Amino acid sequence: MRRNQSLQQVLNLIRKKSPIGQAEISRALGISLPMVMQGVRRLRDYGWIREAGKGQSTGGKPPVLLEFASDAYYSVGVELDPERILVVLMDGKGELSRQEAACLFTRGPVPTLERLRRLITQVLNKVSFDPGKLLGIGVAAPGWFDPVSQRLIHAPLFGWRDVDFLTPLGQWFQTHVCVGNHIRATACGEKIFGAAREAHTYLCVHLGWGIGGALVLADRLYTGESGSAGELGHSLAVPGGPLCNCGKRGCLEAVASEQAILRDAREKLADGQPSSLGKPGGGTVGELSLRKILTAAAQGDPLAKDLLENAQDRLGAAIADAINLLDPELVILDGSLVRNRFFPVGLRQAIDRHRLPLAGTKTRITLSQLGADAPAIGAAAMVMKQVLEEDFQGWQSGLSLEKQASQPASLARH
Ligand SMILES: [Zn+2]
Repeated sequence: MRRNQSLQQVLNLIRKKSPIGQAEISRALGISLPMVMQGVRRLRDYGWIREAGKGQSTGGKPPVLLEFASDAYYSVGVELDPERILVVLMDGKGELSRQEAACLFTRGPVPTLERLRRLITQVLNKVSFDPGKLLGIGVAAPGWFDPVSQRLIHAPLFGWRDVDFLTPLGQWFQTHVCVGNHIRATACGEKIFGAAREAHTYLCVHLGWGIGGALVLADRLYTGESGSAGELGHSLAVPGGPLCNCGKRGCLEAVASEQAILRDAREKLADGQPSSLGKPGGGTVGELSLRKILTAAAQGDPLAKDLLENAQDRLGAAIADAINLLDPELVILDGSLVRNRFFPVGLRQAIDRHRLPLAGTKTRITLSQLGADAPAIGAAAMVMKQVLEEDFQGWQSGLSLEKQASQPASLARH
């Protein structure tokens, strides 16, 4: 076992099980007590752990208990979404402050970045903390990022191509900046703060205006050979079906996303299908929303029920395929389609209907614990993850605990 790995394991265990003694760490990880003591000494020097009193004696001296120092570092997480920019300041335990505003994506990247600069400044000024403990800023957005240059290659929802967040944010705030796709950021946030804390192999599925996925295998974000792994939204669902945002026809996103459900609803109402959603041939069709369709379905409206059941069936089939293929510990569902009581029930039934009886028998399906803020929290977690664990591939390589033995990580970043 590499020493770096051991040190990260010790830190992770203390983070999860605080307060905990050194003998218990040694037993839990199968690492010798002298090695644990060496690691603990170093982590205390970094300021990442501290003493938290004495435990019960089992005959000899009572053991010194250790706890994770959640205020040892801070990070900023940003979510860029067509609806809003959300900025959160997190410490090792959770959110400390937040600021949000409308996203100016239609005006282009420059005004959006200026607004982001103001929001980050406001968030940092709300809380009193040592600026030297700021690990960095993480930015999550719906789109494809170049794994080497970290530039946003294309964000179809924004209509943006080739945008650099790292240089301006790094210059303005003089800190480390990392970027990532919003679903991959969510996967990282769920690991540190949410539903995947105990999981090692899991799939995050975003079901909202668009559809996407992120895959974590053995604690590593799997991005694939060309960086495109997890694109569940563009798996074929209906051959020759409606045109997708990607240019292909019949993708899952084109037939089962929030935008697809609203498009189908408009078309069917315009065709004259009777429904409480609007008068045949038009009427109030322009004011349709997912919430209205969910409410109508819950009240028994046949068209609304039909639209949602179709989407549930197609999504259920795609998620069942992923379970058949990967047999993960956990599938985490997130996004506007599942943030209600009605949709997840039918979706779970559809997954069970489509998956092989003997596949994924141990796979748990759960909702995101981070809710609508998952990408922003996840972006902050990306920064922490890089520094604290370096486990996930695809994000910039982080600090090596061994290499940085002489100085705290938070300082070594600058
Ligand atoms: Zn597509």
